[in-house]
Amino acid sequence: MLYRKVPKTGDQLSILGFGYMRLPTKKGGGIDEERAIRQLRYAIDNGINYVDTAPAYHFGKSEKVLARALADGYREKVRIATKLPPWSVHSRQDMDRILNSQLATLHTDHIDYYLLHSLSKGTWEKMKTLGACEFLTAAKIDGRIKNAGFSFHGDTASLKEIVDAYNWEFCQIQYNYLDENNQAGTEGLVYAAEKQLAVMIMEPIRGGNLAGHVPDEIKKIWDESPIKRSPAEWALRWVWNHPEVTVVLSGMNDEIHIDENLRVANEAFPNSISPSELAIIARVRDTYQRLMKVSCTGCGYCMPCPAGVDIPGCFSLYNAYHLFPHDRSAKFHYLGRHGGLLSSVSYAGLCKNCGKCEKICPQHLPIPVRLREVSKEMEGMMGVIVPVLKGGLWCMDQIGRIGQKFSMRKKH
Ligand code: SF4
Ligand code: SF4
Repeated sequence: MLYRKVPKTGDQLSILGFGYMRLPTKKGGGIDEERAIRQLRYAIDNGINYVDTAPAYHFGKSEKVLARALADGYREKVRIATKLPPWSVHSRQDMDRILNSQLATLHTDHIDYYLLHSLSKGTWEKMKTLGACEFLTAAKIDGRIKNAGFSFHGDTASLKEIVDAYNWEFCQIQYNYLDENNQAGTEGLVYAAEKQLAVMIMEPIRGGNLAGHVPDEIKKIWDESPIKRSPAEWALRWVWNHPEVTVVLSGMNDEIHIDENLRVANEAFPNSISPSELAIIARVRDTYQRLMKVSCTGCGYCMPCPAGVDIPGCFSLYNAYHLFPHDRSAKFHYLGRHGGLLSSVSYAGLCKNCGKCEKICPQHLPIPVRLREVSKEMEGMMGVIVPVLKGGLWCMDQIGRIGQKFSMRKKH
């Protein structure tokens, strides 16, 4: 296992982090806990020392299974990363309440890497106003957290603003060879690293999409390569090739994939991919972009939209929806990120057709027309589904509050 250093602290982290968000499930449904625990312990025995979870993963069960996996001496061998969900926070007190409850769930007295979950411009403004910076500083001083960070799904400009607004030790961004210019992008990665933040990478293979049922045209390019690698290995090596990257998170739930990732993590030094290999990856990326429904590069020149539409964000998920038809999660992510479920509303249907964006777009995209297509395909039933899911999140919150009150009473 190779390790990279957290710039501000010198902490040595394994370049492969275990994402505890897609745990193995049983045939009848539910997490296969025994297998999930065995897999994580195997990865730790083979050098992984960073595991990433969140209250939202598996509807709160991921943190619980992680606590069981880290019994028997495994807690001391890893850094735990978990997150504060902004959608459950309505006051400064909520932040302490949620963190304390996570410490109890995880059977630990501190979280090594604590993140504000899934920030974008709107959620950052909300969390800042509610006192998130003061909360993080206080939690560091009293030892409940060791390092403060944030995970991010907004645009590059917002990332820079957030990086500059607090003394973070790290951040977590979506990054892979298809997202060089999407969300934080390469510009955001380099910016955060220059500011001495460790950068953890999520979605290195785009939720498995760059490795699963790849389109025939893409498969042909990989097959032509003199170097034989799986699409997943190509994708991971591309991310690790960037010296600015600290940890790459992989949501592993299959023993074969874990072994493959561990093997690659023994060899993936920064700047180790040759120009000819990079050229092969560039051909694959160009082909994916050609196959996309909307040829938006994610440059963000059209932003901000006066009506609040996240133009590149909407196009990105619309493209994912069509590129990877076997994977229906793009619609769910669309509701979460743009429908107002996890952050402020920024969906395509908000477009007022003012035409401002069209004049600026370097790709000369008829943006309002394409947004109408996005709205039609991605937003059906949104008015029904979002309130129902919001109700579900509210119920989870209430159950958490009641559970915490109950366990405090029992202690007394
Ligand atoms: S045309 Fe629509 S998407 Fe473009 S800037 Fe105007 S309101 Fe926003
Ligand atoms: S300016 Fe055009 S290419 Fe750039 S993000 Fe906006 S729609 Fe996409």
